[in-house]
This record gives sequence, C-alpha cells and structure tokens, in this order.
Amino acid sequence: MKLGMIGLGAMGLPICRRLLLNGYEVKAFDLVEKAVQEARTSGAEICESAAAAAEGVEMVFCSLPNAAIVSGVLKEVLAEEKPGLAYFIDLSSISPDCARNHARIAAGHGIEYMDCPVSGGVGGASQGTLTVMAGGSDEGFAAVLPVLRSIGKKIHHVGKTGAGSGIKMINNYLLGCNMAAVAEALVLGAKIGLDIDTMYEIIGSSSGRSFIIENKIPNFIKKRNFEGGFAVDLEHKDLGLAVDTAKQLKMPIPMGSTAIQMFETARAKGYGRQDITALLKIWEELMDVEVK
Ligand code: NAD
Repeated sequence: MKLGMIGLGAMGLPICRRLLLNGYEVKAFDLVEKAVQEARTSGAEICESAAAAAEGVEMVFCSLPNAAIVSGVLKEVLAEEKPGLAYFIDLSSISPDCARNHARIAAGHGIEYMDCPVSGGVGGASQGTLTVMAGGSDEGFAAVLPVLRSIGKKIHHVGKTGAGSGIKMINNYLLGCNMAAVAEALVLGAKIGLDIDTMYEIIGSSSGRSFIIENKIPNFIKKRNFEGGFAVDLEHKDLGLAVDTAKQLKMPIPMGSTAIQMFETARAKGYGRQDITALLKIWEELMDVEVK
C-alpha cells in the first residue's frame, strides 16, 4: 500500500521510517532539503510538493508545526482532484476548532480529515510506540487503524473529529504547567541546599512526582543537556491552544496563563528550539544557583 507523508521533522521523519519499516511505500515531502535527503536514504519516494505526495495514494499523513501550516497544506492537496484519496490524517498538535474546520473543508471534496495527534516524543516515534489520539468517523478509524499500528502502541479512538486534538491539548496543558512548576521547585530546592539526586529520588517516589520528574530529570536536567527533546516553541504553541480555547469559553485559566509567560520568557532568552527543561535556566540565572 502506498501512503503520503508531508512534514519530515523531528516527528515526521521517524514516523516516515516506521511506515517504510512496516512495508508501506511512502511518497514524502518537506520544505527542508536535509529532511528530504534522510527520507530518501530510508527508502521514501521524494515528491516536489505536498500535492504530489497525495497523488495516487488512499491516505496522506502530515506532521507539521502548526494549524496555519496544516491549513495551507490541506488546501494545496485539495486544490486539484486526487482520484482514490480518501483520508487526510493529521498527526500535528492543533486546536479542536481548527481540526473541525479542516474536516469541513475536506468533506467538501469527499475526503475525510482525521485529527490523530500523538504523544511519546521523538523516541516514541522512532520506536513505533507513540500514543495516538484519533478523532474521526468509525469507518475512518477502522480504515486507518492498521497503518496507525505501525507508528503507535496505544491507539485510542477518542470520538468525532476534534476529539483527538482536544485530549492532546489538555494533556499538553498539564505538561506545560507541570514543567513551569518543576522548574521553580527544583531551583528553590537548590537554593535551600538540596541536590538533584535527593530531589529526584524522593519526589520521584512521593506525591509530587510526574512525567517531568521521572523522565526529564535523568534524561535532561541531570545531564545538563537541553538539546533535542520537546521544544519550548512547541509547548508554547500547545499552551496557547488551551489558553485561546478557554478564552472562547470565557473560562479563567490562571495556571496556563502563567505557564505560557514562562515559556515566552524562555523563548525571549533564545531557548525556543531547546527542550522544555530549558525553563530551569531562567530561574537558575535569576537566583544565581545551579540545580546539580
Ligand atoms: P518540526 O519543526 O521538527 O518538524 C516540522 C516539519 O514540517 C519540518 O521539517 C518543516 O520543514 C516541515 N514543514 C513546515 N512547513 C511545511 C510545508 N508547508 N510543507 C511541508 N513541510 C513543511 O516539528 P516536530 O517536532 O516534528 O512536530 C510536528 C508536530 O508534532 C507539531 O504539531 C508538534 O506539536 C507535534 N508533536 C511534537 C512532538 C515532539 O516531541 N517533537 C511530540 C508530539 C507531538
């Protein structure tokens, strides 16, 4: 079976490789030459445009930075008739409203748009162990499930289009708030003389534990390695989705509003492409202490 894959970034490239490993032929496209070269080396057929990657396939997948880019790519794909194209599967993290809008646009062309955001990071994408949160029809989910199984381990059909993006948005809201709180807490701990091993061991088995404590302390904070991982820019975008959605609903969302300002501060410091643990450095610089 031949599939389209648009967007070959930190997530899209390993996802493309998983599809190839599982025996699918992949028509791939990205704007960045290096990403394209790597996909070619892995066995993908490289296309000149997003529209070309959606030609002659039943399903096209995309993994793109934000909703505006997804909208542009979707329009490009739909601009000319694509015989046989039935599903546009969006693996990006965008708002539920944008996902539903994309579904309406695609439905006008007889194509089902499904929002299938993922969790599990670059490691999960490389190993095919992502969690996939799918929004779409029952028929659509049944059709794409075999393909999703080659990229994810836990695949949930959450509900109609928009539901996948909704649960992803809530998850990443919690991730961002937790990261902001952990950054403050660890620097406060360092300031009162606690070392990172003590904080990791005790908080990691106490009620303050979380994914950030369990995963990010050993893999990033303890190693003083802030490269790779999940980018500050992406989490800033994800918090923005939740803050904007709450605003539309006239719901106060003070935790998220504060957390997003911390991520904005990290971006202003030039940490936008670094892992979210880079938030720690803001407080370390302010308090003149290192968490170690
Ligand atoms: P990325 O910035 O590494 O990759 C995005 C890719 O899209 C880039 O290679 C870029 O060149 C390409 N691109 C941009 N505009 C394009 C266009 N018009 N046509 C074709 N290609 C285009 O981002 P990423 O980390 O791979 O994230 C992709 C999506 O997955 C985002 O929505 C992100 O929020 C989500 N996500 C990321 C992670 C993670 O750990 N990185 C985890 C879960 C979800």
